[in-house]
Amino acid sequence: MARTKPQNVCVRAGSKPPLLFLDVDGTLLPRPAAAPSVEEIDWSAWQQPTNPALSGLTRVLGDRLLGLGCELMWATGWGDDANRVIAPILGLPQLPVARLPEYPGGDYYDDELHWKTRTLVSLAEGRRFIWIDDEIRQQDMAWVRGNHCGRALLHRVDGFRGLLDTDFAVLTEWLLAT
Ligand SMILES: [Mg+2]
Repeated sequence: MARTKPQNVCVRAGSKPPLLFLDVDGTLLPRPAAAPSVEEIDWSAWQQPTNPALSGLTRVLGDRLLGLGCELMWATGWGDDANRVIAPILGLPQLPVARLPEYPGGDYYDDELHWKTRTLVSLAEGRRFIWIDDEIRQQDMAWVRGNHCGRALLHRVDGFRGLLDTDFAVLTEWLLAT
């Protein structure tokens, strides 16, 4: 009888630090109160160093992210432009970039999962991870609980405020408990 692969086998994380999947828009860059819809944004201009929204980014923020002790990975529609444009401003090294599916034209699929959720869980491969994003919802948290056997923190940021001290406090507390 052929052996079948057990389902939902947890990969031991070993001594590796947790992954931290990092969103950009609404997380590092707060959304303007009068934010245009996604369809109205000129992304070729938005993802350039001339974007005025970048003026709020500082090396202090980069240092705080590095100080979490996680393995940082971009998880953003910015793709490689996050390394080109944002990493130097934050003083971050060039980070790995999560290869996300093509943007589906809205932030959630018909099954109501966020468009990044499945990919990030797949990339984690059972390893502990944090995902910070302004678009995480209960559906994503529930799906991750059922499909990722390692520990995971899906932390939703207020997209109009971006990452705050209170967010870092949550991340730090979770990391200390793992
Ligand atoms: Mg976002």
